[in-house]
Amino acid sequence: MLPWTPPLHRLQVVALVGIVPTAAMIVLATASGMRASQLMELRIGCRLPLEEPVPGFTRYRIASKIVKGQPLGGTDDEWVVIEPVHRSIELAEQLHEAPENGALLFGRFSFTVRYRWFRNWVNSQAGQRLGLAPIREGPVNLRMLRRSLALDMAYRPGGVLATKIHLKHIAVATTEGYSSRPGGAQAELLAEVNKHESERNLRLVLEEFRNYQEGILPAGPGARSLTEFFAGIDAQLDVASAAAPKTQRNDRDVLNLLTKRAQVLHLGPANYCWFSDPSRALCLKLAGTLAADRPLIGMCDSARCPQATHHPGHRPLWAEHADRTKVFIGQLGTTRKTERIRLQADLDRALRVVTEIDAASDTTNEESS
Ligand code: SF4
Repeated sequence: MLPWTPPLHRLQVVALVGIVPTAAMIVLATASGMRASQLMELRIGCRLPLEEPVPGFTRYRIASKIVKGQPLGGTDDEWVVIEPVHRSIELAEQLHEAPENGALLFGRFSFTVRYRWFRNWVNSQAGQRLGLAPIREGPVNLRMLRRSLALDMAYRPGGVLATKIHLKHIAVATTEGYSSRPGGAQAELLAEVNKHESERNLRLVLEEFRNYQEGILPAGPGARSLTEFFAGIDAQLDVASAAAPKTQRNDRDVLNLLTKRAQVLHLGPANYCWFSDPSRALCLKLAGTLAADRPLIGMCDSARCPQATHHPGHRPLWAEHADRTKVFIGQLGTTRKTERIRLQADLDRALRVVTEIDAASDTTNEESS
């Protein structure tokens, strides 16, 4: 614990009051993907009342304007954001010189300059004494932040569509030629998404392989097949290193062996889907589309599909799901028997998955043996 700042002179206070809204602006831009014009249109009071569309889930919205491709003056629009963005705006409002309702929150600004000042402050003694991670040199602009967010969102299940909606690409499709220019921005984005997806898959498979070597095993119906695959790779590595004792097996060699498996990996909401055989895919069977070349992640029933595995990283999701289901069951009236049976089955399934993950990742047995 240490005081958040040493005593400051007046001018240093003024400078700090300039740095904090920049930090808020960076959070906003990074986690919402808003363009400069949209950020500049934000006004005091732009945080809209919180909504709770589903019990326990809060929706945070902010009001701004879309300017690009719109008639003069822009068009009013809303953004659904995450809580840190909402809080950043609240902080920026508190630090505003004249916080009257409707006043521009940031007004016109040069992001490049403000970002540079912010980075200098974080990397200075003041930032370092707070333990902030130093920020690397190099250009960062709003377009880069928006693009990084787009990529990050796009390679999640259903992400390309979510990105289009969130970043309001529907509105800019005409102006940027997304739909009418083959090989244009959309194709570029998709190509980049695919590249990141492959890299991410390889990284995930490698992580799971390393977990396997540590004795942390996968769980779920597809666990045995994945474990056998990892055992096979491990054996190959052993043979290779026995033949050439001086050769250090680095990640690159392992990755080469894991590449094929990484190509069939898809991310489910709370599981990994190893889509190697469409005829065994439960989602395709349920949908009656066995000829498909991709899984139907939206219909995934990972607790029953032989191609699904669960890993320690999925545990919090299942545990949270179990807790929520318990609450729902508690709130049900005595007459809603059918609903209760359905929810109880859901709860049992979630608890079973949690127990399986715990059992598979428990390394104590291995260690004691
Ligand atoms: S049910 Fe789930 S795990 Fe099985 S193939 Fe479909 S998406 Fe993959």
